[in-house]
Amino acid sequence: MNTLPEPSRNAGLSRLASFIAQSLSHYSKSRNFDFGPERRSNVSLLSPYIRHRLILEREVLDATLQRHSLSSSKKFVEEVFWRTYFKGWMEQHPDVWIDYRASVAGLIKALDSNANLKRRYADAVTGGTGIDCFDAWVRELEQTGYLHNHARMWFASIWIFTLRLPWQLGADFFYRYLIDGDPASNTLSWRWVAGLHTKGKTYLAVSSNIARYTDRRFDPGQTIATTAQPLTESRVFPLRELSQPEVLPTDGDYGLLITEEDGCAENLPIDGRPKTILGALATRQRSPLAVGQPATEFTLGAVADALRRATQHFAVDGQLAETEDWSNLLAEWAEQHQLKTIVTGHAPVGPVSEMLNIARGHLEKKGVRLTQLRRPYDSVIWPHATRGYFKLKARIPHVLEQLDIKAADEVVDTRSAAV
Ligand SMILES: Cc1cc2nc3c(=O)[nH]c(=O)nc-3n(C[C@H](O)[C@H](O)[C@H](O)COP(=O)(O)OP(=O)(O)OC[C@H]3O[C@@H](n4cnc5c(N)ncnc54)[C@H](O)[C@@H]3O)c2cc1C
Repeated sequence: MNTLPEPSRNAGLSRLASFIAQSLSHYSKSRNFDFGPERRSNVSLLSPYIRHRLILEREVLDATLQRHSLSSSKKFVEEVFWRTYFKGWMEQHPDVWIDYRASVAGLIKALDSNANLKRRYADAVTGGTGIDCFDAWVRELEQTGYLHNHARMWFASIWIFTLRLPWQLGADFFYRYLIDGDPASNTLSWRWVAGLHTKGKTYLAVSSNIARYTDRRFDPGQTIATTAQPLTESRVFPLRELSQPEVLPTDGDYGLLITEEDGCAENLPIDGRPKTILGALATRQRSPLAVGQPATEFTLGAVADALRRATQHFAVDGQLAETEDWSNLLAEWAEQHQLKTIVTGHAPVGPVSEMLNIARGHLEKKGVRLTQLRRPYDSVIWPHATRGYFKLKARIPHVLEQLDIKAADEVVDTRSAAV
């Protein structure tokens, strides 16, 4: 079976360079094929690096468009924008995440009192449904921490419309095992398949489509549902205004906190040098249930790599925390180093943001301020992610211009801009 991809920025950058040089030109034609775990050169496999910001979306777009025109790389660029869209949309609809978290906790408790649900759920997550493709994807996910995008769509569709299991438990299963597990992309993709994100529009997995795009490795025939009635929900999730980006305070010593949300601290919009650096993990907070080994290992490696680079870059000491009790951890760290401020890359909606919100109150009582720095890339694009993706998609050329990202056939000179 596949080994875990190396969780480092260098590995992400070299994967990006080789994908752009060798595979990008075939991407739009071949990307929908899932040839199996041993044959993945038709997609970039960059998602775990992008998710933890070991490499930045902006760098991916820059590198792509330095070599390719926008029209020839359009599909790939649009996929990167899907990610940014989901991040921005969730940031402006945080109640969706709060509701999801509460549902997962409730449903996991309900497993103890509902024997039927418990058995059907156990069959699904152990790969014992008898639907060959689905059971194989369960094993692949657990072993590698990755599934092809098309397999994720088929899987979620079968989970919801054939197995008739709650979508939240499926999203939780993915989130616990994916090495690119992301609160926004994962939760909103599951909602999209269920017909909750684009209201009334579901994604139905069709046997002939699975057979064709798995290169005939699978054909579930009559074993999967042939209709997909959209799920409904009574709650309405309001649009919340984006908070103003915070700025780096100029007074006093600050400590730099590195989390799994931003593994590129050396190019955060920071002037000067932190006094010290701390790497902290929140991986176990993904779910009340256990998180898979590949996801745990990749995240740990990503934060350790980010910490190593940041300590070198700023030439200061750093340490990797072992505890996930951030209230005490951050307060003790601030006291130990006499910090007035803790600075970290902005943590979008998700467990890290939850942990920071809890720690913030604790820190304030001790006179320590917590500052989250948002990247210009997010500040430019997120305001466009209030409604459907296609509204943002139509603005991609405009947004690229705003970010000063020019495509190969339009480049006048080389430049470096804010990331
Ligand atoms: C049910 C479901 C759950 C998903 N959960 C996650 C998740 O937790 N984390 C995650 O990063 N992606 C998630 N995706 C999106 C997508 O499947 C993966 O990003 C993609 O398969 C990663 O492989 P790749 O890097 O080779 O992608 P490529 O096809 O090479 O795409 C390049 C990059 O674009 C972004 N991207 C591509 N497709 C999507 C998409 N549909 N939505 C958002 N971003 C996209 C990723 O950052 C990806 O690395 C999910 C999709 C579905 C249907």
